[in-house]
Amino acid sequence: MGRSGTLNRRIKLTRYADVIIDISHEKVDRPFQYRVPEHMQETLEVGTCVMVPFGRGNTLRRGYVTDITDKCAFDPQKIKELHSTVSDGVGVEDRQIRLARWIRRSYGGTMIQALKTVLPARRTVKKAEHKKVQLAVTREEGISLLGECQRKKQNARARLLEELLQEGELPYELVTGKLMVSPSVIRGLEGMGAVHVEVLQTFRNPVKQQAGSEADKALSGEQQEAVNRVIADYDGGEPGTYLLQGITGSGKTEVYIRLAQEMVSRGRQVIVLIPEIALTYQTLMRFYRRFGDRVSVLNSTLSAGERYDQCERAKCGEIDVIIGPRSALFVPFPRLGLILMDEEHEASYKSESTPKYHARETAVYLASLHGASVVLGSATPSMEAAYRAEKGIYRQLSLTKRLTGGTLPQVYTVDLREELKQGNRSIFSRKLQQLLADRLERRQQSMLFINRRGFAGFVSCRACGHVMKCPHCDVSLSEHRDGRLVCHYCGYETPSVRSCPSCGSKYISGFRAGTQQIEDRLRDMFPAMRILRMDADTTRTKDSHEQILAAFAAGEADVLVGTQMIVKGHDFPNVTLVGVLAADLSLSAGDYRAGERTFQLLTQAAGRAGRGRMPGEVVIQTYQPEHYAVTYAAAQDYRGFYQEEILYREMMGYPPAAHMLAVQIYAASEEQGGALACNLARRAEEYVDMSQPLERRMMIVGPAPAGIGKVNDIYRFVFYVKDRSYDRLIEVKDGLEAWMGAQQLRQVNLQFDFDPMNTL
Ligand code: ADP
Ligand code: ZN
Ligand code: ZN
Repeated sequence: MGRSGTLNRRIKLTRYADVIIDISHEKVDRPFQYRVPEHMQETLEVGTCVMVPFGRGNTLRRGYVTDITDKCAFDPQKIKELHSTVSDGVGVEDRQIRLARWIRRSYGGTMIQALKTVLPARRTVKKAEHKKVQLAVTREEGISLLGECQRKKQNARARLLEELLQEGELPYELVTGKLMVSPSVIRGLEGMGAVHVEVLQTFRNPVKQQAGSEADKALSGEQQEAVNRVIADYDGGEPGTYLLQGITGSGKTEVYIRLAQEMVSRGRQVIVLIPEIALTYQTLMRFYRRFGDRVSVLNSTLSAGERYDQCERAKCGEIDVIIGPRSALFVPFPRLGLILMDEEHEASYKSESTPKYHARETAVYLASLHGASVVLGSATPSMEAAYRAEKGIYRQLSLTKRLTGGTLPQVYTVDLREELKQGNRSIFSRKLQQLLADRLERRQQSMLFINRRGFAGFVSCRACGHVMKCPHCDVSLSEHRDGRLVCHYCGYETPSVRSCPSCGSKYISGFRAGTQQIEDRLRDMFPAMRILRMDADTTRTKDSHEQILAAFAAGEADVLVGTQMIVKGHDFPNVTLVGVLAADLSLSAGDYRAGERTFQLLTQAAGRAGRGRMPGEVVIQTYQPEHYAVTYAAAQDYRGFYQEEILYREMMGYPPAAHMLAVQIYAASEEQGGALACNLARRAEEYVDMSQPLERRMMIVGPAPAGIGKVNDIYRFVFYVKDRSYDRLIEVKDGLEAWMGAQQLRQVNLQFDFDPMNTL
């Protein structure tokens, strides 16, 4: 024992820790290295808070370990030794570090990447001003000016005046943001003396804004029950995670607001997550009216400095409620009581860059650090949330009645194979044509949508099946109106072809179902029809997405044609017809979530019809009318869909029945990438425990070139590891990460995606 002990000590490598001293975002890049003292060699972990001697005087300072290696970057004689570890505190900073550590452990990547995700970038600009737009004339003058603007068709001016007449004043960023009024329009009105822009330098004494300016509605029985349950559990010391299921218009937002009020009255703070695309001006105003200056909004238009300001305000308790997309989770509230997550099934809650964290799981962990509750809301919950609610891990709350009135729409499913047999070669079924004509006559609005742009508009040969693809990205090129073929990943362009490059046939043409083709065919069929189109082409500029929706809401078009973007957000009471042109485009996506996504899209699309007083109709065109995602969506039957879908997930070992880790390899050379992928997959195989029964055993799938094999001349390979236990997948990830770290390979990059949202 004695001998082997000394032997052990002799061969044991000295370990070194990278430590960041000051965790402002900018300085996170520059860690300092320290030697790990003997007694900590075994126990020190990445993310631990430590005390280290710093600077010439060797004063002790707090720092965080971001990496541990056995390679010394300096002269080993001169390197300082780490002083001691500090146990986790409960301060704001400690919680952020713990959150970062958890994100790193659960999703992979480095501690530095995790810290950069969690910490707000230190402000580099001067303190952002807080501005308000106020009405500067009397009500009567305002009303007459409004009339004038309306006559002159000065829509933006009119919109601002109308809102100011109602609200008195509005936060500047709300006016330029969700209300879509440009600064030059505001300046114009200011020049006329009609409005005034008030600049506030400090937030300490917020002017009395609209807080409480909207009387609370009496909650319905179901709403009250939901609020009571969450609050009673919280007050009883049993915070939890809740799934609030209710169709659009069933009063979920009202429940969120009431819950937030209850928490604020208890001195707690609240994070409200809403996908940016679904966050409308109306919803924002509902929060502003209840919370006034105590609510703040995070969005992608904020500069790093403004973001930092928001975080500082949150830290010192100047705001109670923050609304924003997934990154709002990292606003450092000292007394967090509740996280609300609207549209929890949205794919945008998953980060697409490393660390690829999911806001839902991260919210649940963050809440556990604070003893806070989480409420997940959706009309069509993700399979994950529904599964956990079923298992009793989440507590279920339901809203079953639509408070806005309106009946459920009538849904028709059209079999496109039948249409073809009957000689209809148009992209519109006869049913849809007939209903479109009818709406045009009655001056009601319609929406037509196609699930996915990437698949539409591709050019293929009917003789041999050859598809025109991008030479760099291995995706289909899309045909534009002027005849160019364009790659939507890298922008590669080439003129259209007259004959097939593969077989020479002349029968090569576009799959005419892109948004632009739909618009063109509509114009041919209904010359008088006013059409708006919304897709990635027409929404390139900032705010154009909102502008199109606002124009449609204002009745400036009869039909809105678009990709799935059009099914979110705004309410259009005059829309009585929704057409889904090819449900198959999302059904046939080679992805285990294809059924779930199709069900959600169809349900949401159907929910767009008949919001107002007039009943709505929905036409779903498909080549697979018998697919359960189609039939249950047509019947608006969530339970039915869930039960069928979960069987498939269980049988195949897909999330949420099991967990799945995508190991993604990016390489500049195809050979190197392929070899590395095989090598890594073999290493992953070592984690498979053959003594386990087959159905409990870890499975390795692949490797294969990723669905999109090559983007911008970088080759992508992927393989999947499936296991019932998430922790087992973390072990695999840790092992592969460590192995890669030791190889020091160039021009390759390894990424992990746990329970991926998109496997295309
Ligand atoms: P969801 O978020 O589920 O779509 P909302 O909370 O937006 O539902 O409610 C839909 C509509 O019903 C809104 O116009 C809202 O003002 C109204 N509403 C919500 N709760 C009530 C209530 N208790 N009494 C009257 N109207 C309500
Ligand atoms: Zn051909
Ligand atoms: Zn390309």
